[in-house]
Amino acid sequence: MTMVWTTWIILGGMASAIGVALSLAGLLLRPEEDALTIRIESLLPQTQCAQCGYPGCRPYAQAIAQGDAPVNRCPPGGQALIEQLAGMLGLEVQTLDPHYGEEPSVPQRAQINESRCIGCALCLKACPVDAIIGAPRFMHTVIADQCTGCALCIAPCPVDCISLHADETPRWQWPLPQLAKLRSVP
Ligand code: SF4
Ligand code: SF4
Ligand code: SF4
Repeated sequence: MTMVWTTWIILGGMASAIGVALSLAGLLLRPEEDALTIRIESLLPQTQCAQCGYPGCRPYAQAIAQGDAPVNRCPPGGQALIEQLAGMLGLEVQTLDPHYGEEPSVPQRAQINESRCIGCALCLKACPVDAIIGAPRFMHTVIADQCTGCALCIAPCPVDCISLHADETPRWQWPLPQLAKLRSVP
């Protein structure tokens, strides 16, 4: 009986030691991984549109850094982004995976047909960059300068009064996410 207990104690001790070692290894590797995530994320367009299949630019950057996702899933970043990421990571340059959408040719902005808006506020909750203002039961409107054209507000609108339009604003007036994309153009 004593022998059985001794064996269990030894096995338990070994399991704990392995657990501690794995945790320490995780802690030691994390800063490097985080630094890479930050570098990758700094190139992403920050539209938070989730077209890459991740809930935002940061999680996609994390997945790329961990080797869990390829670099060709971001339609807003397009080919220029793929080339930048491939160059940074020493990967072969691929084309944008069409499964995740098409690269927009010009910046898009959402517009609300205010005469049809019923003030349900569903679009407000869906916008990842707080580009919509309004209050329940009141008309909502889009702050054009903050809108990244991610289209996430369109589907939730129960009366289909939101649409995307090409933005004719001169490049020097684009908001930061668009400038981030411009920065990635050689
Ligand atoms: S598709 Fe690109 S811009 Fe959109 S959330 Fe993913 S990384 Fe960000
Ligand atoms: S207003 Fe709509 S299209 Fe513009 S950023 Fe917000 S969710 Fe995206
Ligand atoms: S989801 Fe549509 S109806 Fe509801 S507040 Fe937004 S624009 Fe108005």
